[in-house]
Amino acid sequence: MNTDELRESLLMAPKNGYARITPAQREEMNAYCRRYMAFMDACKTEREATAWAVREAENRGFKPFVPGMDVKPGDKIYYNNRDKAIALAVIGTESLAKGANICAAHVDSPRMDVKPNPLYEDSQIAYLKTHYYGGIKKYQWPTVPLAIHGVVYRKDGTVVTVTIGEDDNDPVLMVTDLLIHLAGDQMQKTLAKGIEGEQLNVILGTEPIEGEGADLVKLNVMKWLNEKYGLIEEDFLSAELTVVPAGRCREVGLDRSLLAAYGHDDRVCAYAELEGLFAIENPTKTAVCILADKEEIGSVGISGMQSHYFEHFMGTLCDAQGVKLEDCFAKSFCLSADVSNAFDPNFPETCDKRNNSQLNYGVAICKYTGSRGKNGASDASAEAMGHVRSTLDNAGVIWQTATLGKVDQGGGGTVAAYMANRNIVTVDAGVPVLSMHAPMELVSKLDCYETMLACKAIYLV
Ligand code: MN
Ligand code: MN
Repeated sequence: MNTDELRESLLMAPKNGYARITPAQREEMNAYCRRYMAFMDACKTEREATAWAVREAENRGFKPFVPGMDVKPGDKIYYNNRDKAIALAVIGTESLAKGANICAAHVDSPRMDVKPNPLYEDSQIAYLKTHYYGGIKKYQWPTVPLAIHGVVYRKDGTVVTVTIGEDDNDPVLMVTDLLIHLAGDQMQKTLAKGIEGEQLNVILGTEPIEGEGADLVKLNVMKWLNEKYGLIEEDFLSAELTVVPAGRCREVGLDRSLLAAYGHDDRVCAYAELEGLFAIENPTKTAVCILADKEEIGSVGISGMQSHYFEHFMGTLCDAQGVKLEDCFAKSFCLSADVSNAFDPNFPETCDKRNNSQLNYGVAICKYTGSRGKNGASDASAEAMGHVRSTLDNAGVIWQTATLGKVDQGGGGTVAAYMANRNIVTVDAGVPVLSMHAPMELVSKLDCYETMLACKAIYLV
C-alpha cells in the first residue's frame, strides 16, 4: 500500500455534510426544516410543545395512556404528564423483557418567569417582576422584543391561556438597558453584573387611567388584563407566565443554511424525536419518545426527568406484558437527545477543536458531558458508543463526535445521567448550536435533519 491508500484505510477524514447528502435528501431536509420552523413558531414553552405533541399524536392514532390498559404490538400510546411533559410509545413486536429503544429530549428553555407578586408601578411606568429560569447571560435580555406565554388559574377554577406578543397586531414587551452615555460605571462591571436579576423588569405600560390616587398606570394595565383575560391582580399567584423572545423562527445566511429561533435547546431534538417516532410502524422493540420538562434547572420536580412518572408509564406497559420494569430497563437503550455547542471561530480558545462538534457535520454524539474531570457526567461505555456508531452508520446517518468545551473550561449536563441511573444504557447526542441559551440561537438545517434520522434509526434497532 502507498501512503494514500494507507491514509484512506487507517485515518479518519470527516467531510462536511453538504458533500455527502444527495439532491433528494437535500429536498427532504428542506421540507423537514419547514415543518420544524412551524413547530417552533407554535411552541415556545413546555406546555405548548406538549399540547402540540398530543394533538399531532392523536391525529396519527395515538391513544391516551390509562393505568392498567391492555397494550399489544403496534399500539401507539402517549402519557401526558400534567400538560408539561409527555412520553409516547409505539409498542414493539418483541416483549418489553428485551428492552425498549428510548429517545429523551427536553422542551423547556431558558427564559424569564413572572414572579408570584409581579405587578408594580414606578415613576408612572407599570412593570412585571421576573425571576430568570435556567442559565442565561442576563445582559442579553434587555432591548429584545418579548412576549408572554402561559396559563393562569382563576379563582373560579377556570384556566385561561395567555399569549401576548406573537401576533403581528399584538404589542410586544421589553426590558430596558442603560444608555451608553451614562454607562461609565456599568461598563466597568463584569458581564455577569452588568444587568442583574432584579433589573429584569418587563415594561407593561405607561398610560395612567383617568382618576385620582396612586398607581394609575398599574391600574390601567390591570384593567386591560381584566377585560382581555378576566384577571385580577391576585390571579398572578396561581399563574405560570413566562417571558420569552417574541417573533418567529427565521432562516439565516444568504444560502439560508441556518435557522435562528428562541429555544432550539432543546426543542430541536424534541421535534426530531417526534417526527422520527411518527415515521415508524411496528418496530421490533418498543420505541419510546420523551419530551421532558425542567431540564434547564436540573430535571427536578414532577415533570422533570427524575420524576417517577416515567416509571409509572413504563411500568404499566411492562405489567400488560407480565414483564418486570427492572428487567425492561436493564435491556433498554436511551439516546439522550440534547444540543451540543457548535464550534464558534469567534471563541476558539474555549474548545478543543479536534473534539468539538461543528456546524453541518451532522448529529453530534457526545460520550460525556459534566465539568471539572467529567463531574456529573453519564460517561457512556465503549460498548454503548459502539452501538450508536454502528446503528447510525448502518442507517446512513451523518454524525460527528462532540465534547462540551475544552478541559476545565466549564461544562454542563443533560437528562442522560438520570436515564443511566435507572440502569438504562444511555448516550448523549444532538444538534450543534451557536449562541446556546441566548434569546436567539442558531442551528444548521443539515444537522437538524440528520438528528431526526438518528432518532428514527435508534427506534428501529
Ligand atoms: Mn438542553
Ligand atoms: Mn440548555
